[in-house]
Amino acid sequence: MTLHLRWAAVTDQGHVRSNNEDCHYAGDNLLVVCDGMGGMAAGDLASRLAVEAMVSLDAVIDTDQQMDSLHRALEVANQRIAEQVLADPSLQGMGTTLTAVLFNGERAAMAHVGDSRAYLLREDRLNQLTKDDTYVQMLVDQGLIKPEEAAGHPRRAVVTRVLQGEPVSPAYVIVEPQPGDRWLLCSDGLTGVVSDAVIEQELQTVPDPKSCAERLIDLALRGGGPDNVTVIVADVTTRD
Ligand code: CA
Repeated sequence: MTLHLRWAAVTDQGHVRSNNEDCHYAGDNLLVVCDGMGGMAAGDLASRLAVEAMVSLDAVIDTDQQMDSLHRALEVANQRIAEQVLADPSLQGMGTTLTAVLFNGERAAMAHVGDSRAYLLREDRLNQLTKDDTYVQMLVDQGLIKPEEAAGHPRRAVVTRVLQGEPVSPAYVIVEPQPGDRWLLCSDGLTGVVSDAVIEQELQTVPDPKSCAERLIDLALRGGGPDNVTVIVADVTTRD
């Protein structure tokens, strides 16, 4: 059975930031969210370079090639960031998160670096498929703070791993898709403001992907919109 994605993507600058350093791509076979960092124009550039390096993956790629293709595209993304920094040292330190899902109708492969997130709503239960590469997640993993203390921790914004032109080990995950699955990819502008419980409820109750994505953006903005926010909602369906 070949499955299809029915997707919608929305981004917003938020109420505080002067520009939008998030960059995203959504297509029938590829979903990507990147959240750039590095000040001035550098964050913009890093996230855009990374997305551009991924776009050629929006094609039906054989299951046995998915992981290699993803891995190669991430290497290219990282390489392009390195080249830009080499050409203009003032860009030193720029980087981007990257969360990407490659989908071929039979299987999904995901790559992840940073603190953007991918969730899967399956049978009405929300599952977080990515683990934040952050200082507070490390404290949680080591048992030094409780998971519920992470959101209010003063160092919650410290990201420990991004694409910044240096060697990096992304996390890779394979998912066997099922009809009725609903994917959410988002930047931390959503998850920093809106709880998993609320996200789960919205994903359960707003059937149309576009309306659901807009609703989640709206909740982030009503929560103060302190950061750029990007949301991709993609439903797995048997219909083309
Ligand atoms: Ca962000």
